[in-house]
Amino acid sequence: MKPLIIANWKMNPSNSKEAFDLALSVQNELKGLNIEVVLCPPFVYVPQLLPSLNVFIGAQDCFWEQEGPYTGEISPAMLKNLGCSHVILGHSERRRNLKETAEMVQSKAKACLEIGLIPVVCIGQSAEKEFQDMLQAFDAQEISKIVFAYEPEWAISTQKGAKSEDPEHARTIMEGMKEALASAFGKETAEKTRIIYGGSVNQENIGKFLKVGFQGALVGAASLDNKGFVALAKKAELA
Ligand code: PEP
Repeated sequence: MKPLIIANWKMNPSNSKEAFDLALSVQNELKGLNIEVVLCPPFVYVPQLLPSLNVFIGAQDCFWEQEGPYTGEISPAMLKNLGCSHVILGHSERRRNLKETAEMVQSKAKACLEIGLIPVVCIGQSAEKEFQDMLQAFDAQEISKIVFAYEPEWAISTQKGAKSEDPEHARTIMEGMKEALASAFGKETAEKTRIIYGGSVNQENIGKFLKVGFQGALVGAASLDNKGFVALAKKAELA
């Protein structure tokens, strides 16, 4: 499996020219690399970036219904019809700031799968419990289509006092998740289901997380700096 590197731009940058320039320079620099790259800009930039880029474009959230009276929401069907491939769900910033619950995240992931989008579900602080809840809500076929991002909240670079997770500790969490997958759905499903790491990933530490067995990374702050992100992606290819 090629490493999967997902850029979470969060609520940045503040204008579409910067968004376009960032995406274009990343795309040009990464041409031909043997990795999968997904850029997740804010919703408003998606229509502008999609037709002009060769990298995958994802969203940072979606609603759990495909259409209807849900003011302000964006549906998985809309994202799919635009050409998006992935949707980040259950990020700790949304769970904390918007009180998103495990049930909401599960409903959103189901709605994404139904329409053919790949959910990237963030599993944070209480990783074991959050993961077990997910395993109970999906069958083997569904679960293997979800990308799980183990992302402890305290490791997110913009948190006060953030510190990068120890790759060896992260490995124990990831291996626990793979074991839980194997005991719920069998070894084959466990192998097929991607688990990536998120939280203060940069060009210096990406190699360490991939070496301990993570199948990619979710990258926040470092994805906004085109040179740093390209360097990170090149290291991921070599890891
Ligand atoms: C994130 O919040 O999804 C993230 C990966 O952030 P950072 O890389 O800035 O820690």
